[in-house]
Amino acid sequence: MIPSAFTASGQFWRGNLHTHSTNSDGVLAPEEVCRRYQAEGYDFLALTDHFIGLYNYPITDTAAFRGDGFTTILGAELHSGAMKNGELWHILAVGLPSDFAAPNSPAFSPVDGQETGPEIAQRARDAGAYVAIAHPQWSGLTMDDARSIDAAHAVEVYNHGCAMGCDRPDGFHTLDLLLSEGKQLNLCATDDAHFYEPDHFGGWVMVKAEKNEPEQLLAALKNGNYYSTQGPNLHHIEIKDRQLHVECSSVSAIIIQGQGSAAVAKHGHSMTKGQIGLGRFDASPWIRVTIMDAAGKKAWSNPIWCDEFK
Ligand SMILES: [Zn+2]
Ligand SMILES: [Zn+2]
Repeated sequence: MIPSAFTASGQFWRGNLHTHSTNSDGVLAPEEVCRRYQAEGYDFLALTDHFIGLYNYPITDTAAFRGDGFTTILGAELHSGAMKNGELWHILAVGLPSDFAAPNSPAFSPVDGQETGPEIAQRARDAGAYVAIAHPQWSGLTMDDARSIDAAHAVEVYNHGCAMGCDRPDGFHTLDLLLSEGKQLNLCATDDAHFYEPDHFGGWVMVKAEKNEPEQLLAALKNGNYYSTQGPNLHHIEIKDRQLHVECSSVSAIIIQGQGSAAVAKHGHSMTKGQIGLGRFDASPWIRVTIMDAAGKKAWSNPIWCDEFK
């Protein structure tokens, strides 16, 4: 069994899925945000400004900044309805149509009668978007909140802005519990860059597609044909004879996680491949793979469902 990211045809394209500009509360104009990502070696970017009335409900049009091997996907960070803690939902939607209808979300606080978080997430998915539950730890998301977003494709498990700005980058706890409830979700790492602090170029996705074009990238994201990283690269994952085989850029740890406390780690020096037995995961419906380099930078596979190889 080989996860689809490594069987799909094409190559991996590097992209950031969560970014803000002066069209909401970012400090750089859309053109300069795109220029910087392209200059840093990214193949694509989704500008996802805050979709609220305060900013006139922007779906920032980045089409003019495509070219020279760089492309963009339209999107937004959606806000409507209250989470359990009374604060406004944050939902990442990549691949929105430019005429996506505005909710009644005047600013960063919930108001009576507006769409719920689950409702606006579903509307985004129905409109063709890849939908992710944004920064669960930063939001103070409860499991009831997380469960309610049926439309999600993924959980944002690493948010670089939340790492730099408040040391609350995490979404893995939420994701792992949802997986163990049977929710077949993927994961993503993003920047959530606003450029008012060192919140950029820290977490991204590597998406497998034949061409670096918005429609192909979006389809690959929705199919889970990608992995997420802070730097290391996953070249191949394969499960054969109850062993997991990994090929990757040089790392010092390969770790597999599953349900509950199930995990196995292999440590070493400059490892570019590894093989780990899966006996520890007999009771787990899913596993996922982390690799970590000598500097502590990590890459993460999407979850792999064990009924595909048991
Ligand atoms: Zn947010
Ligand atoms: Zn954001």
